[in-house]
Amino acid sequence: MKQYIDEAEKVLMHTYNRYKIVLDHGKGMYLYDIEGKKYLDFVAGIAVFALGYNYEQYNEALKKQLDTLIHTSNIFYSIPPLEAAKKLIKASGMDRVFFTNSGTEAVEGAIKLARKYYYNKTGKAGGEIISMEHSFHGRSMGALSITGTKKYREAFEPLIGGVRFAEFNDLSSVKANINDNTCAVIMEPIQGEGGIYPATEEFIKGVRKLCDDNDILLIFDEIQCGMGRTGSMFAYQSYGVKPDIITCAKGLGCGIPVGAFAATEEVAMAFQPGDHGTTYGGNPFATKAVSTVFDIFESTNILENVNVMGQYLSLKLDELKNKYSIITDHRGKGLLQGLEFSIPVKDIIAHAMDEGLLLISAGEHVIRFIPPLIVEKKHVDDMTEIFTKCLNKVV
Ligand SMILES: *Cc1c(COP(=O)(O)O)cnc(C)c1O
Repeated sequence: MKQYIDEAEKVLMHTYNRYKIVLDHGKGMYLYDIEGKKYLDFVAGIAVFALGYNYEQYNEALKKQLDTLIHTSNIFYSIPPLEAAKKLIKASGMDRVFFTNSGTEAVEGAIKLARKYYYNKTGKAGGEIISMEHSFHGRSMGALSITGTKKYREAFEPLIGGVRFAEFNDLSSVKANINDNTCAVIMEPIQGEGGIYPATEEFIKGVRKLCDDNDILLIFDEIQCGMGRTGSMFAYQSYGVKPDIITCAKGLGCGIPVGAFAATEEVAMAFQPGDHGTTYGGNPFATKAVSTVFDIFESTNILENVNVMGQYLSLKLDELKNKYSIITDHRGKGLLQGLEFSIPVKDIIAHAMDEGLLLISAGEHVIRFIPPLIVEKKHVDDMTEIFTKCLNKVV
């Protein structure tokens, strides 16, 4: 593997400190490197591979679409985007959809839609956006502008203006940032990259009310916490709060690069021809993936599995937290959970990889548990056993 790793380090930009393994193929909950070593996967391509690797029905549907039609252009109609949009609308309660190639692009679109809505409403540009500290919304200039981690933003300034950051789970902080120009509040119902912090019910409901009272749009970034990951199709549904715009990606295509933003009818109609576009976004191949994911989620009742396995994982992680004093907190919901440590988690993750378990951090001190949504009890048990072994190496 070393040869490939050395070569890759010469030709790929050094934007990641990659783990020193070269992956070859996957099956279900497992990944295999090119030397044949097997890894139990609790990363799922960062909350992407909800169905695990090489899910037959998904692969068959895409092979068929590959031989039918991959791409046309959004200037024509085709059936897969229509089917995918109908399913996303049904699952989210939104009214209209725009498909993108990534999560970041979905966030870009949501920002533009909110600003256009404000422009139509007030007759002027300059709509301001309130985002949350420690949030993550993506790496492009717009999405980066509203990402609440200063170190990601600093070198790339000036970014887009009119952005204010409020403290997550602090309603008074959101309130203090509202002014006459505020057009939208954006937040993740459960912060993912920032360290697995769920919004409190009081906060999320309070933000909805603040937005209603002040005629401000509420955008939920469901890119990581959506698509069934927390036990409801979208995380906001478990809070009983409805946004005006949602962004979605990661699990939406289960491996095919696709994202979406969706909005209520009134908000979506702020966009007119020419306001937004994409060459690839929502092409027949990508949207066939989306459609198939929704079909499989429904036919296998995947949400039920997320709820049952989420509780079981929660139980196991609580046990570990009680046993090891270096674990200082356990947060999250469904199959989006995290353990916070008093020490950096890098070495624990490296030990796990040696032992055949893939894990990922969320910041320096948090380990994220985001397995494919098809995870079974035996996988959670195996993970716990290996993980315990790794913890014993560092305490
Ligand atoms: C991953 C992520 C993004 C960015 O999505 P990409 O597909 O990497 O562009 C945006 N928001 C949240 C909450 C994410 O987890």
